[in-house]
Amino acid sequence: MRRIGVLALHGAFIEHEHALSDLGAQAFEIRERGDLDRSFDGLVLPSGESTVQGKLLCDLGIMEPLRALIKGGMPVLATCAGLILLAGSIDGDQARWIATLPSTVRRNAYGRQLGSFHAEADYEGIGVVPMTFIRAPCIVKAGKGAKVAATVDGRIVAVECGRQMALAFHPELDQDRRIHERFLALAA
Ligand code: GLN
Repeated sequence: MRRIGVLALHGAFIEHEHALSDLGAQAFEIRERGDLDRSFDGLVLPSGESTVQGKLLCDLGIMEPLRALIKGGMPVLATCAGLILLAGSIDGDQARWIATLPSTVRRNAYGRQLGSFHAEADYEGIGVVPMTFIRAPCIVKAGKGAKVAATVDGRIVAVECGRQMALAFHPELDQDRRIHERFLALAA
């Protein structure tokens, strides 16, 4: 059985745990540095507020070990704020967090208040999936090695780079489990 560590400091992590257990994987919560000593096959970085998550990662001393794990090939599924944590750069912002994904994101790309909407679009290798966006970022540039996996209205909303899957939307909030299934295949 695949064991997946879900970063559980802030935001919508429970929904990812449910999606993973629907698919027969075992999810455990990463709340402190010691949790990273357990052995696991994949990592989920959930949505929330990226500045809050980033600061907590620094304060708890988890940032460096997570970066090392991802650089070492740990499969990761990052959604929304998780995408911002992974991004190599953030448009108009000096902040850098885990920064293992060679791509540039723009926070709150659809406006701060009216930025929640639903779409359906093709995800590379899967087909048309439902996509829920909540104060979502978009990817303004997919860098070297990052493959565009989905676009909506001409904006990049998902990229994959090696074993990193980074999405501007929330697959954990819809019932369609194919994105998590794809992630679990990476974690096999
Ligand atoms: N707007 C949030 C941020 O910039 C992300 C929103 C989300 O994760 N749903 O961090």
